[in-house]
Amino acid sequence: MSTQNNYTTLVRHLQRCRDIAGALRLLEWDQETYLPDGAVESRASQIGALSEVLHEQHTAPHFLDLVDELAERLGELSFEQAVDVRETKWQLDRERALDAALVRERSEQRATARSVWIKARRDDNFAALAPHLEKIVAMERRVAAAIDATRDPYEVLLEAYEPGLRLDRLETVLGEVRAGLQPLVARIRAVNERAPWPASPLLGDFAEDKQLAFNRQVLTAIGFDFANGRIDASAHPFSTTIGSDSRLTTRYDRSDLGYALYSSLHEAGHGMYEQGLDPQARGLPRGSACSLGVHESQSRLWENQIGRSRAFWDYLLPVAKQAFPALAPASVDAVCLAVNRMEPSFIRTESDEATYNLHILLRFELERALIGGDLHVGDLAQAWREKMRDLLGVVPPDDRQGVLQDVHWSAGEFGYFPTYTLGNLYAAQLLETAATELGDIDAVVRAGEFSVLLCWMRDRIHRWGQTWRAAELIERATGSAASAAPLLRHLERKVEWLEQR
Ligand code: ZN
Repeated sequence: MSTQNNYTTLVRHLQRCRDIAGALRLLEWDQETYLPDGAVESRASQIGALSEVLHEQHTAPHFLDLVDELAERLGELSFEQAVDVRETKWQLDRERALDAALVRERSEQRATARSVWIKARRDDNFAALAPHLEKIVAMERRVAAAIDATRDPYEVLLEAYEPGLRLDRLETVLGEVRAGLQPLVARIRAVNERAPWPASPLLGDFAEDKQLAFNRQVLTAIGFDFANGRIDASAHPFSTTIGSDSRLTTRYDRSDLGYALYSSLHEAGHGMYEQGLDPQARGLPRGSACSLGVHESQSRLWENQIGRSRAFWDYLLPVAKQAFPALAPASVDAVCLAVNRMEPSFIRTESDEATYNLHILLRFELERALIGGDLHVGDLAQAWREKMRDLLGVVPPDDRQGVLQDVHWSAGEFGYFPTYTLGNLYAAQLLETAATELGDIDAVVRAGEFSVLLCWMRDRIHRWGQTWRAAELIERATGSAASAAPLLRHLERKVEWLEQR
């Protein structure tokens, strides 16, 4: 067969995988949103069956041979075709490095640890989780060695989420974040010592159906396409993509208008990225998200960079007052102050835009040490408390609000946390570049002309999929290598503003 025919066969195979994966995600989405309690077992069985079908497709010998053959003939393919082959092969090589027994053992360990974690967190009992976590750390080291024994195991694991990212690069940018945030945290603490925060205008009584309508209105305004997506409620907000259909979920808190609003803006950022991928290449690497860090840059852009700006509230507050007459006395100033409240705290997911990154640094440093063998799981809870004191100046009173708060490690996800801060710094760098190219970005936002910004993101980020690895994509989009400086400038301005209140 000719190389071109082989490529066509590859595309058909990947599209088939895409469709099976789409059906699987729809079942999972339904499980998190509308599934009746009595159907949990039959749904688990359906998901299991379809996962097996997908796995068979992924590991079909004729498919593996085809990818290997194409990878040897990249020169006979167009640039775009070569991207699809290169990335498919990269992914497959990682998967093939793990034998079936290891994969099964790994997923059983994770399932067990996850359920132990739920109880351990509830009972504030780290000792119950520790032996499971030890097994998981040992497993991830085995996995990293199987994929590439010549490299730092943490870097190999990190690449599952951020392909191509070198550990020394990550250490450099996170080091910049650390150095830049330390003096800011001291200033944030001083702001908190000076005066108590005034009551937030976004706290009150906001009926769920009204919030739902309001959030739809906001998401439509920023450019989320409801002809190719939905928003529903779930216990934990998430977003998923089913072919050309981007689904978001949020959780409503009747007493806090901000909760669902910010989680919706975040998930919509993810959804709009998916909606901006090349529809002709759906299911192929060129039509798939670049990395978790880049994905997160799109959610953090709308949630934080735009969503917490003064210009955004100049635009949104009049809209919100129409939906919720109780907001009538609220000023833009008061709302901005409330949504930009900064204070060192124990829980990552509830922390502010600045100190959030210190929560990530803490996790990065601890998980690197765990995988590198420099820290034992038995000492983890204590190491957590010490790092909290060093980085944030607060020490959680129990492990529930400390080392037990996140599910990631129990789920075997080592190398995942840094992508959150990478997202924050990519978002700041992208917006800074967009602002120099598009002129007065505040005026654009204040006028509600969000499509100007969305089009810029589509052009610089979305449409490229995995054509470039994240480092190159960011450099092409902004003209310089990824750096923490734009994020630090952004946070510095915020803190300065808080100090002048
Ligand atoms: Zn996210």
